[in-house]
Amino acid sequence: MDKQQIMNTAESVLMHTYGRFPMVLDHGEGLYLYETDGTKYLDFAAGIAVFALGYSNDNYKAALKDQVDKLLHTSNYYYNVPATVAAQRVCKASGMDRVFFTNSGAEAVEGAIKVARKLYYNKHGHADSTIIAMNHSFHGRTLGAVAVTGKAAYREPFEPLIGGVLFAEYNNLESVKALIDDRTAAIIMETVQGEGGIYPADKDFLQGVRKLCDDNDILLILDEIQCGMGRTGTMFAYEQYGVLPDVVTMAKALGCGVPVGAFAARGEAAEALVPGDHGSTYGGNPFACRAVETVFDEFERLAVVDNVKKVSVYLWDTLEAIRGEFSVITDHRGIGLMQGLEFSIPVGDIVKATMVEGCILIAAGSNVIRFIPPLVVTEAHVDEMAEKLRRAIRKVVG
Ligand SMILES: *Cc1c(COP(=O)(O)O)cnc(C)c1O
Repeated sequence: MDKQQIMNTAESVLMHTYGRFPMVLDHGEGLYLYETDGTKYLDFAAGIAVFALGYSNDNYKAALKDQVDKLLHTSNYYYNVPATVAAQRVCKASGMDRVFFTNSGAEAVEGAIKVARKLYYNKHGHADSTIIAMNHSFHGRTLGAVAVTGKAAYREPFEPLIGGVLFAEYNNLESVKALIDDRTAAIIMETVQGEGGIYPADKDFLQGVRKLCDDNDILLILDEIQCGMGRTGTMFAYEQYGVLPDVVTMAKALGCGVPVGAFAARGEAAEALVPGDHGSTYGGNPFACRAVETVFDEFERLAVVDNVKKVSVYLWDTLEAIRGEFSVITDHRGIGLMQGLEFSIPVGDIVKATMVEGCILIAAGSNVIRFIPPLVVTEAHVDEMAEKLRRAIRKVVG
């Protein structure tokens, strides 16, 4: 099949849930992706913040091949070494006591919600608790995750969703406070809003929410599915706020391509779920957990977080320079290697034009271009991206 045939066939058999770019990807190497016809792209999207290690990392590939030869799956009725080691690594890195591995980010959010509801039930002797979520948040596409997602268009066609979800304004502590009552089980938020347009939490806000939770016996769930795993310059973004959540969700870069997520909890939240309360056939299988274990090993070996600290400053300065050159760019925000440029016009055409120049970027909402490269990106890659982006913006805005 040639490229056009592949795209036509895909469109005829895959559900039309995505507007795909006309690109048939075949393999990757470092920061570069290649199409079946050999066309090369610098990748500043990392499969949506997934491929932290870049493509084709040798140790990662070797570990997974070794695990394929040994054992892919056991179910959770038995112990296995990769899940045990991966759980230790996640707990140590996150400051949590226990972890449950899932197959996706949305499932991690589902699990976190169940922890909050179960703990409330244990303490109060009745269910019917509520959860406070944030406007413009994104937590995934399953019915529970979409119920706490702060974008009406994602929720409304699928109602009724899980009930008892109230929405506050992100970075507005008073709006959170106003929703708290004796039925509040948890507050869920991203430490840095990703899909909503790259909005980091204000320090005062996150610390204020932590205090509200402490004062009112409410769980703080931080969704670090996108901003966790080193992306912001610390393993988890909350480290930079001096705040520890009660439950944290992670996925995306956790497996660097192997589908795996997790929710981890500490203290009484870590003990809320007991046998019979939750499960997953695949969740945390030896293959997925070998990926997690190897990702942590490679993060250490390659000093990935130090690289983020260094290159993110260079990316910041580069994007600031670009912002100064084009009046259509109205804002620049973000932390670490999770930055966004906001435009006064929809960014779809600029993203497409950048792709034609040979660089993959993605939008966050209609007006923001998101920069979430693999975490092993170098300053030379940033320069290459910047040159392609400048050319693309000039083409679109003239
Ligand atoms: C991507 C994302 C999710 C959903 O993860 P999936 O693996 O797509 O289910 C949830 N929360 C945040 C913050 C995300 O960025």
